[in-house]
Amino acid sequence: MQCRHHPDREARVVCQKMVTGYCQECLENGAECADPTNYCKFRSQCIIHQLSKDRRMEGRDRPAAGAFTGA
Ligand SMILES: [Zn+2]
Repeated sequence: MQCRHHPDREARVVCQKMVTGYCQECLENGAECADPTNYCKFRSQCIIHQLSKDRRMEGRDRPAAGAFTGA
């Protein structure tokens, strides 16, 4: 699996719903789910969704690092 934006790179994480990969740089630059509005049965274990949610919560009361609500 290659990065969606960088075909020359190996993906570090893969969206299981969209079958789309992202490299480390894309994650750090704020990769978002390619289809965030539709229901995703993988969401509770989707690292891409989790990371984007964590970013949105920055500046507020964040849960402890690594906390995983499954919500
Ligand atoms: Zn990339």
